Amino acid sequence: MFIPECIYYEKNIEKYELGKELLKKYKEIPKIEIENHNNIEEMRKKSNKEFPYMKKNLIIGIRKTQKFVENHKISDYLVPYTSSGCTASCMYCYLVCNYNKCAYLRLFVNREKMLEKIIKTAEESEKELTFEIGSNSDLILENTITNNLVWTIENFKDSPKGKLTFPTKFDMVDPILNLDNKNKVIIRMSVNPEEIINKVEFGTSRLSGRIEAINKLKEAGYEVGIIIAPVIFIENWKEKYLELIKILEKSLSNKVKKDTFFEIIFMTYSYVHIKINEEAFPKAVNIYNKELMTGRGRGKYWYKKEIRKEGENFFRKELKKYFPNNEILYIV
Ligand code: SF4
Repeated sequence: MFIPECIYYEKNIEKYELGKELLKKYKEIPKIEIENHNNIEEMRKKSNKEFPYMKKNLIIGIRKTQKFVENHKISDYLVPYTSSGCTASCMYCYLVCNYNKCAYLRLFVNREKMLEKIIKTAEESEKELTFEIGSNSDLILENTITNNLVWTIENFKDSPKGKLTFPTKFDMVDPILNLDNKNKVIIRMSVNPEEIINKVEFGTSRLSGRIEAINKLKEAGYEVGIIIAPVIFIENWKEKYLELIKILEKSLSNKVKKDTFFEIIFMTYSYVHIKINEEAFPKAVNIYNKELMTGRGRGKYWYKKEIRKEGENFFRKELKKYFPNNEILYIV
């Protein structure tokens, strides 16, 4: 269980039900009042080396803007929701590109307003919309602190239109298993070979736990998907990812295998990741591969075209063999 070392909070959170609950729950934890969760000077001034320690704090505030961004993958909109950042420290975390070393967990207590906007947008649309509510954080992890996922499903399931979806790397799904989501929530589990989870995805759930969680979620009536991501082309990548596909084939329940789908995402990286990881995790593996990666503008890197093509061919071939009835939604 995550117990924060210090809580940084905006004074106004006291006006919200969840804000009051969290202040009560963490009454013993030292607290520092802040003006704005987006700009904590003390945090900004810390060195990259302190990145893992910064993640031991919890920031609680109010989300001021909620801009829906159009998306054309599994959802129609990416929607900033009840949290951003995370207590885990995956070395490639995409949130580091947005928040730099301030990718710590921030909770937003004005959840009623945020969910209301989603419900209203769904209702007003002619088309059935899906909202991606987990692109800024991990909601299964967040739920262990706020119970927000339980609250969200309970308050969304009877709305007339729309679906919610989010990805996760965590297995703490038990609190949502006894809810009836009324076919309105799609949960996508992100997986990687165990070696990558151990060496790169610090603080997340083990592969076996994630697989067990997918089976439990499906059994509980959720639509589930599998995200193989981010694919990292380590030295023996074909062997490792083939092993992963075989483990999935062996361990996923027939119910999951009947209609789950895959998303495959190759790792992207950045100069900011290199700097933070070098200083914060000096003993960790180096996942930036100069030979295989190339610039993508503004200090970002991705894998070269040839290796991405090879990766795509590999996943299409092996998934067809082991999961012949399951769709690959995209490989990027
Ligand atoms: S679990 Fe997700 S949000 Fe958390 S550090 Fe890893 S990639 Fe980032």
